[in-house]
Amino acid sequence: MELLTENLNIENGHLTVGGVDTVELAREYGTPLYVMDRDLMAKTAREYKSAIERAYGKGNGRILYASKAFCCLESCRFAAAEGLGLDVVSGGELYTALKAGFPAELICFHGNNKTDAELKMAILNGVGHVIVDNLFELERLNAFALEEGKRVRIMFRIKPGIDAHTHDYVRTGSIDSKFGFALENGEAYEIAKATLSMKGVEFTGIHCHIGSQIFDIEPFEDAAEVMLNFMAKIKNELGITLTELNLGGGYGIKYTAENDPVPYGAYIEKISVRVKEVCKRLGISLPFIFMEPGRSLVGPAGITLYTVGSIKEIKGIKNYLAVDGGMADNPRYALYKSEYTVVAASRMNDAPEKEYTVAGKCCESGDLIQERVTLPEMKSGDILAVLATGAYNYSMSMNYNRIPRPPVVAVSGGSKSVWIKRESYDDIIKNDI
Ligand SMILES: *Cc1c(COP(=O)(O)O)cnc(C)c1O
Repeated sequence: MELLTENLNIENGHLTVGGVDTVELAREYGTPLYVMDRDLMAKTAREYKSAIERAYGKGNGRILYASKAFCCLESCRFAAAEGLGLDVVSGGELYTALKAGFPAELICFHGNNKTDAELKMAILNGVGHVIVDNLFELERLNAFALEEGKRVRIMFRIKPGIDAHTHDYVRTGSIDSKFGFALENGEAYEIAKATLSMKGVEFTGIHCHIGSQIFDIEPFEDAAEVMLNFMAKIKNELGITLTELNLGGGYGIKYTAENDPVPYGAYIEKISVRVKEVCKRLGISLPFIFMEPGRSLVGPAGITLYTVGSIKEIKGIKNYLAVDGGMADNPRYALYKSEYTVVAASRMNDAPEKEYTVAGKCCESGDLIQERVTLPEMKSGDILAVLATGAYNYSMSMNYNRIPRPPVVAVSGGSKSVWIKRESYDDIIKNDI
């Protein structure tokens, strides 16, 4: 049976994650339950780091963890322990990182509509880079920095016009995107020029992020080339020398057996080769490179455990298998029809024989986890596991129907630790007056 990731196994008919029995995890912590394999996260982080050192040279690049994929104090501490930088997209993520003791100078602050309060928070805490999305933001950031007597390092978010082959909702590199400055119409060029008279900002580089869950390498290479061309243009025409290039994240992961991601090191190697080639051709020096994987760092390391509740067989139509979670802990199927692999964690040795629609417990017909899932004949009380839920599941979870969020338990070296406690009903009403 295909188990997607190397950290999953079968023992005594039960699914194990990082050597820990999932049925025991479900019994000990209750369900729904998010489980993160910290060792797999660390292994991936090290793969990324060594690949960039190998391909691009030690000290010439940095891997930033895009924390929106899964953000909590422990995930920020993890990033710090692994020597990663951090990408945050809101005051809340920035606050979490700072509370975790994450070094501010290694943080990039993104977002297409940062508030005054968020910009000031970034300045006062000494965030490494603000990734500027638009002119309205640039002008306010410059003014706030001057008020504080500071100079803030900035990169521009650029739309390189690359059409990465992915779901439309997460395609962000093309001209109609809400993110960043366009190149085609001269917008980015004009803004670059405007920075020449701004003393509150230090314009050090440009950034792009062309989409998410991308399996091809070419869009990343092409985007890098477009960005370098722009760097050369503003150097030659405006005398602005940029030393940093941030190529974003977006590397695809295996959600199902059909997904076939390239090893992450291979992306970095190919991109590095192209960057070096293009820099040589353009006669510009090699920039310091940033890459910002989110999904690929944490996605494969997570699974979600549920207990099967009601089973509804509609003869000749479909069989509903309802679990004790749903769109409140994983809204991705409802949002994008995202594919997931679902397995019967408590019945791994039983032959799959029946097709189910796995439904949640929310008052919403679209509250499904997955359709057309073949499993053994299931019974109420069985444990179900949804695989590769480490990214954009907990971080997108909500309290719809006033359902408390599940806890996050991490496994590492066979031991377990709670990273986030289960929400209680009191947590649900704590801000109600
Ligand atoms: C979401 C995002 C990332 C991470 O994308 P993944 O697909 O999770 O790797 C990186 N950079 C920026 C700016 C993003 O918005």
